[in-house]
Amino acid sequence: MGTQRSFPTQRHTIFQNSLMTALLDGIYDGEMTVGELLGHGNFGIGTFDALDGEMIVLDGVCYQVRGDGSAARADLGQRSPFTVMTNFVPHIAATPPPGLRRAELAGFIDDLQPSENYMYAVRITGRFSKVRVRTVTRQSKPYRPMVEATGDDAELCFRDVEGTVAGFRTPVYEKGIGVPGCHAHFIDSARTRGGHVLDFTLNSGAVELCPGTDLSLRLPLTSDFSRAALAPEDLDHQIHTTEIKK
Ligand SMILES: [Zn+2]
Repeated sequence: MGTQRSFPTQRHTIFQNSLMTALLDGIYDGEMTVGELLGHGNFGIGTFDALDGEMIVLDGVCYQVRGDGSAARADLGQRSPFTVMTNFVPHIAATPPPGLRRAELAGFIDDLQPSENYMYAVRITGRFSKVRVRTVTRQSKPYRPMVEATGDDAELCFRDVEGTVAGFRTPVYEKGIGVPGCHAHFIDSARTRGGHVLDFTLNSGAVELCPGTDLSLRLPLTSDFSRAALAPEDLDHQIHTTEIKK
């Protein structure tokens, strides 16, 4: 790695639909369909209207993971209030030592990425001895803020499973636009179960990174979004509670 450049070698766009702060404020209905989102990338994560499960897009196929952890192909007409997409190009790839937990693998990826000042799409494919996930559940109107809506999420643990963790590493300066740090979703290789990743242990597998240098941010043209409170004083607490919750 001594000869690795300290910045990405070419420009690459990450597309984002709406803002993390909008989701935190209960803006759970979007205007973009799965079909439109797939026009912005073959890889991504997000959620569905009414917070109806976790979204994971791999190889151009969009999956919906429901509250019970079951996954199924999403319809092209379904809508999303928050999504991050890109056309994944594995510019950087490595095989981590076996048996790393999520925090340990994060250190491995820190060393792998040329600089922490860019965005990265991350794909981890392999066999996991354990994957702990949670999944948001469908909300009804009037929508509660996300700190309340995620209070009754189901937490699941899959053991000895093959699959893919897909997500994005977002620099701290993007806090509020996205989720600072790593936000990742999991789906098994049969594409039948998954969720929002809390922790895992990777037995064996590959890590691939796609550096992002450009952000294409699309704000919803909806009255809900126009009235949302997007600068809460307790933003750190809200992000921690909804996304990282142990
Ligand atoms: Zn998530």
